[in-house]
Amino acid sequence: MEVKEINAKNIIVKSKLPSADYVINPYTGCAFACIYCYASFMGRFVNQTIENWGNYVYVKINSIELFKNEINTFLKSKDNPSFLLSSVTDPYQGAEAKYKLTQGILEIIAQVQYKGQVGILTKSPMVLRDIEILKRIPNAEVGMTITSTEDKVSKWAEIKAPRISQRLEALKTLKENGIKTYAFVGPIFPHYIKKLYEFESIFQSLADIKVDSIFIEHINLGKYILKRMTSQLAEENQEIKNVYQQATTKEHRLQLDEFCKEMIKKYGLNLRLSEVIYHKN
Ligand code: SF4
Repeated sequence: MEVKEINAKNIIVKSKLPSADYVINPYTGCAFACIYCYASFMGRFVNQTIENWGNYVYVKINSIELFKNEINTFLKSKDNPSFLLSSVTDPYQGAEAKYKLTQGILEIIAQVQYKGQVGILTKSPMVLRDIEILKRIPNAEVGMTITSTEDKVSKWAEIKAPRISQRLEALKTLKENGIKTYAFVGPIFPHYIKKLYEFESIFQSLADIKVDSIFIEHINLGKYILKRMTSQLAEENQEIKNVYQQATTKEHRLQLDEFCKEMIKKYGLNLRLSEVIYHKN
């Protein structure tokens, strides 16, 4: 794993996501190496190939200092725009244990009592380290990416990320500590269309935890993403390979949309954005 310290020019960046106005990414690259990661395109900004995603992390060592300056503009705004940590990296990947950039940014948000929504999205129980800071932030919520309920599935797709059982446990702990929680159910693995009972177990687990809300997202199978997934799929049987090839069709998407609607109703979950997120390639 290549870890390199760099200086960034700015840290609060306007977002194109429907779920946040601004994004904060204290790292470029991500050690969790998920096979479906859309953020692998970030390599082009640091002279890295898409194939090498997961093998490098560039640490923006001046993130806290930048944030301290940039937040001033937002404190003057009446709209209190929302922030998300993070959109193209995991804010609690291994390097965070040493550099504590996410922690430092959250500490400033707590100190200035920023009123806008501050969302965290991670796959790591390391977020529990910062529970006491999160409690002091007026409008914080923590999301875990939940793509299955089985550790063997997370090991297959989210190669170096904490296992799903740890993430579900972390959500439970956050909830017990009075932190607002959400689950990011995405991407929906295409093979769930053949194993709906497996997909249903996600909704059931989230209902058991009483997660406050959920986002659901269809898989993004853009060419560069499929390229990274191909080696992983090579070991699968032909039926699974076919499912992934057909996963970009409208029929596939609509069938999963219907199923999600049914699950949301059955388990009484609160679906954010009122629909399953879909990125057209
Ligand atoms: S944790 Fe998120 S940013 Fe990191 S590799 Fe996985 S999908 Fe990409």
